[in-house]
Amino acid sequence: MKLDFSKRKAIQMGIVSVAAATTGFLVRDNTLDSSMEMRPAFLNNEDAVNNEDTVNNEALLKTEDKAVTIHSESESAIKDNLSKTANFDNTFLEDIFLPQEKINVFQSALKRIMRVQKTIGYANFNLVSFDNMILYAHRYPKIGKFTKAEIALIDELFFFDANEYGFYGNKVIQNLTSEINKKETIKISGSGHYLFQGDALSKFNQLKKDVGPDLILTSGVRSVVKQLQLFLAKLDSSDGNLSMASRSLAPPGHSYHGIGDFDVGKKGFGKFNFTSKFALTDEYKKLIELKYVDLRYTQNNQIGVRYEPWHIKVV
Ligand SMILES: [Zn+2]
Repeated sequence: MKLDFSKRKAIQMGIVSVAAATTGFLVRDNTLDSSMEMRPAFLNNEDAVNNEDTVNNEALLKTEDKAVTIHSESESAIKDNLSKTANFDNTFLEDIFLPQEKINVFQSALKRIMRVQKTIGYANFNLVSFDNMILYAHRYPKIGKFTKAEIALIDELFFFDANEYGFYGNKVIQNLTSEINKKETIKISGSGHYLFQGDALSKFNQLKKDVGPDLILTSGVRSVVKQLQLFLAKLDSSDGNLSMASRSLAPPGHSYHGIGDFDVGKKGFGKFNFTSKFALTDEYKKLIELKYVDLRYTQNNQIGVRYEPWHIKVV
């Protein structure tokens, strides 16, 4: 299959993003507090992307002393991978963005995938394969067929080397069309999630026994498609910043949820279960004392992923 989202292109994209920063294409978002938070100007001003007027850019550099200060602060920060994962929701100079010309296709693909999830149900969607997603889209007019461009973009994202945008974890699933055998999983009642039978299930049951009834499963088995949906949604809320998205979510194919890991939380804690606040709960304090518990993404990990006190390593 021919891929145009090549490594070479990514390197070009990287240069573009740094050059853009120094010529003002990356602009400070004044609604944000951190000095490192910036957003690409193409989201605000399409003309800026095609602006090759170096005279204007030099003038911009001279007049924007504040911006230059921000850049040098960022430059020292990006040398430190730990700083990036600690500030996972910030933008850094080296960050790589989805090219602007792919934004529309990306958004239509994401919306279509969300329609698949709505149509087949949240729980079923956790296990759905790529081929079945395509079939559902064909079958249900309210989803609509995936366009060639949407499939090509999904393909590119799956096979693109995630190291290029700062994710250093392993690729644990090599095929976009890889399928999960439902018979090897079990649905955990009340959660809308599945666990693999064997090590994952026995670890979860043991955890419930040792930590208490308020410990819940917040995410279990995820197919490539489910991980794709989560990653694309994060990419959307990250304004197309692939690096930023991958600091919070493993790119599709790179998630250990596909082969055994799961997430736990505290009953009634809602969205805070996926924040560092989970580490302040009694449930966390109890589970971290258990000798058989390992976290996948520890504090100070070098994988390029934020600290995830809720993600239990199984494999
Ligand atoms: Zn997880």
